[in-house]
Amino acid sequence: MNIIKGVSQLREVRRGWQLEGKVIGFVPTMGNLHQGHLNLVREAKKHADVVVVSIFVNPMQFGPDEDLDAYPRTLDNDASLLNALGVDAIFLPSIDDIYAKGLEQQTFVEVPGLSYMICGASRPGHFRGVATIVCKLFNMVQPNLAFFGEKDFQQLQVIKAMVEDLSMNLEVVGVPTTRENDGLAMSSRNQYLTDSERKLAPTLYEKMQALSAEVLGGRRDLTKLLETYKSELAGLGFKPDYLELRNAHTLLQPGHEDTKLVLLAAAFLGKTRLIDNLQISLV
Ligand code: AMP
Repeated sequence: MNIIKGVSQLREVRRGWQLEGKVIGFVPTMGNLHQGHLNLVREAKKHADVVVVSIFVNPMQFGPDEDLDAYPRTLDNDASLLNALGVDAIFLPSIDDIYAKGLEQQTFVEVPGLSYMICGASRPGHFRGVATIVCKLFNMVQPNLAFFGEKDFQQLQVIKAMVEDLSMNLEVVGVPTTRENDGLAMSSRNQYLTDSERKLAPTLYEKMQALSAEVLGGRRDLTKLLETYKSELAGLGFKPDYLELRNAHTLLQPGHEDTKLVLLAAAFLGKTRLIDNLQISLV
C-alpha cells in the first residue's frame, strides 16, 4: 500500500494507473475509521481496479465552536485497517497541501439551496467546507468513481449536485449506512458518548423507524407527527436539533405527489451531535 503525502507524488502514482487503463475508485474520509468507512472501501473495491482513501480532517467544514481540535486522529490504526483491506494508496495531504494561502484566501465551492437548509442551517458554512475540500480532492486524485455514505445524506446530495453543476467527470456512488447491532449509525463521534448516553443513542433510530411506520401506514398530518416525535425524543433526554421529512432528491418539503421521502434527524446527547436518516418509499 502506497502512503502518499504530497500532491506531486499522488499525480505520479496516478499517471502510472492511467497508463495501465485502471479504473480509479476514491473514498474521502477524515480518518478514525470504523466499519462504515471500511464498507465504503469494500464497495469501491467491487467497482474499481485501484482504490485511494484520503484522510484529512478538514478545518473548513468545522464551525468555530465545533470539535476540530478534539476530533479523533488514529492514523496508525487507520493505515493497518486499510492495508488489510488491500487499499492501493492512502493520501494524507497536509494542511499546507490543501490550504496553502490559509482558509480566508481559499477559493470555495458552494452548492446553493441544498447547503443552507436542515444541517446547513444548523451549521452555517459547513457544506461550503465540504464541497470545497471534496472538489479539491477530486482535482488531486481525479477518480473515475467516488464513494460516499448515505449516513451523511445531505452531504451526499450536495456532492452529487456539485458534480452535476460543475460537469465533473466522475460518478458519485452512495453506500447505505452501516449500523451497530443495536441500530445506532456508526460514527467517529459516537466515542464521545458516555456509557448512559451510548445506551440511549439507538433510541433515535428506533423513533425514526416508528415515525416512518406511521407515514407508511397512511398518516399525513406530518407537521404534528414530527412535532410529537421531537417532543418524545426531548422527553427521553435528547436535545433534538431537527427532525424533518423531505423529498429524498431535492430535500425540499414534500408535495402530495412525492413518493420518495427521507426522514432526517439531528439530536444532541450531551455534547455529542448524532445524525441519522431513513428513506421512505411510498410506492
Ligand atoms: P467522515 O470520516 O465522517 O468524513 O466520513 C467519510 C465517509 O464515510 C463519508 O462519505 C461518510 O458518509 C461515510 N460514513 C461515515 N459513517 C458511515 C456509516 N455509518 N455508514 C456508511 N458510511 C459512513
